Amino acid sequence: MKANIHPKYHPNVTVTCACGNSFVTGSTRETLRVEICGACHPFYTGKEKFVDTARRVEKFQEKMARVAATSGTRQGKRAKVAKKKAAKMAEQTAVEKDAQ
Ligand SMILES: [Zn+2]
Repeated sequence: MKANIHPKYHPNVTVTCACGNSFVTGSTRETLRVEICGACHPFYTGKEKFVDTARRVEKFQEKMARVAATSGTRQGKRAKVAKKKAAKMAEQTAVEKDAQ
C-alpha cells in the first residue's frame, strides 16, 4: 500500500438503522447511520413497505384519490361536444319550425 493516501480503517463500526436494528462491521467511517437494513428491507421481510423519502408514493396515492373522487361528476370533451351539438340541432329545428 502506498503511504498517506488510504483512509483509516475502523474494524468495529456500529451501523445503526432507522428501524432500530444495529450491527457491527468494518468501515473507513467511525459511525454509520442507514435508512434501511436486512432486518427491515421489504425483500427480506416479505411485507409491503414503501422506501420513499421523497414522499412520491404518498403524493401519487393522494392524486389518485382526488381523481377517483372527481371522476364521477366530471364530463369528458366528447360529452361536452355532443351536448353542444344537440343544443345547436334543437335551435336549428326551432328556427325551421318558425319559418314554416
Ligand atoms: Zn432496518
